[in-house]
Parts: sequence; structure tokens; C-alpha cells
Amino acid sequence: MTCVKCKELGQKSVLTSGYTTVTAMYFEPFYDENGVFHSHNRNVRKSTYNCSNGHAIVVSSTAMCPSCNFGGQESVSVVDSNNNSGTLTINLGE
Ligand SMILES: [Zn+2]
Ligand SMILES: [Zn+2]
Repeated sequence: MTCVKCKELGQKSVLTSGYTTVTAMYFEPFYDENGVFHSHNRNVRKSTYNCSNGHAIVVSSTAMCPSCNFGGQESVSVVDSNNNSGTLTINLGE
């Protein structure tokens, strides 16, 4: 992984992994009427990375259901030293 902001600016940087938090909402996996297992986990995992050029990158992601396209969202927010932030949303599902 590279800093998306540095990539945009054509700079090179070193990323240090910071803390990761996961929300703790209750969810219940279930089997649908066809006996197919679904895991609709709405908990969001946020990982923070610090870039050597002063950017902070926050990656928020949700787990994808193995049986349908529920979840699997990943969004990356970048906060630079001037506090300008931008969000870019990547959908890992179909
Ligand atoms: Zn950077
Ligand atoms: Zn599902």
C-alpha cells in the first residue's frame, strides 16, 4: 500500500501503521431459504496509517458476505497537514 495523496502528488513516502479500531455492533449470521450462509456484518474496521510526508490515511472497511454482495465497502480518507481531506470510495463487491 502507498499513500494515496503522495501517489497523486507523485511523491514517495514511508507509511507507518497506526491503530485499528472496530465497531462492536451485534449481527447475526443466518441461512436463507435456500440454506445459503450469509454474514451481514455491519461493523466497520478503521485502520490509520501515517505517511512520512505528514498525511494521515484512514481506511474504513466492512466485511463482505461470502454469499451475496452485502458489505465489502472500503473507503480511504486522507488528511494532510493543511487539514484538507478527501474521501475516495472503493467498492470491493460486484
Ligand atoms: Zn503522503
Ligand atoms: Zn448475504
